[in-house]
Amino acid sequence: MPDIKQNIASLKQEIETLATALGRKDPITLLAVTKTHPVELIEAALAAGIEHIAENKVQEAMRKLPMIGTAYKGFHFIGHLQTNKINQLLALKPYLIHSIDSVYVAEKLHLALGRTNRTQDVLIQVNTTREEQKSGVTFENARDTIWQIAAFSTLRIKGLMTIGKLHPNPETSRPYFKMLKELFDEFQNEEIPGMEMKHLSMGMSHDWKIAIEEGSNMVRIGSAIFGERYYGDDI
Ligand SMILES: *Cc1c(COP(=O)(O)O)cnc(C)c1O
Repeated sequence: MPDIKQNIASLKQEIETLATALGRKDPITLLAVTKTHPVELIEAALAAGIEHIAENKVQEAMRKLPMIGTAYKGFHFIGHLQTNKINQLLALKPYLIHSIDSVYVAEKLHLALGRTNRTQDVLIQVNTTREEQKSGVTFENARDTIWQIAAFSTLRIKGLMTIGKLHPNPETSRPYFKMLKELFDEFQNEEIPGMEMKHLSMGMSHDWKIAIEEGSNMVRIGSAIFGERYYGDDI
């Protein structure tokens, strides 16, 4: 049984130490990736000061979220979004959807939101590493895609997301994080109605330090909080 409280305390401490060393003044959000983990462990994380939780499957989130008894700030959706799950996801009132990976999905989401008069904060997921098993728009198409998605009035683009290399040496992720930060900065200078480049979601348990060094302000941490996952680990 992992010591969730201790893991979260050390992560927060390490993030703060690194941010100070880098002279960073902007807040860095620690997301607890709760996929595959039972509600009791989610409650333990919330009791230890976690305010944002993330799931990658709509079905699993639908089952678990209603059972959580502790208040928290945000539920984040970080998995590939199947269009037939959009209404179910929206019913869970996601704080942020990190994984908008095509104009097609964005349009379906826009249409569903339009029916209920809602807006939704989203990130565009970029497949910086070009790995086939990962979702995300290609880096080459990212600019075009962002412009097209920005035109959907119900979607508020709040930033970008990527998954680094799933390689034991976290340094292998650095060039990809750098690429995304450059794109993020580029769009920060654009005046696009409804768009605000605010969140740069990159870094997981093995490479979050490198991600923060390269400008991430939102890290998605699962195993470093909860221990290893035993099933359903597909990203
Ligand atoms: C599972 C997952 C994470 C967390 O992975 P860990 O290596 O356990 O920290 C982060 N981001 C996404 C998109 C994921 O699917």
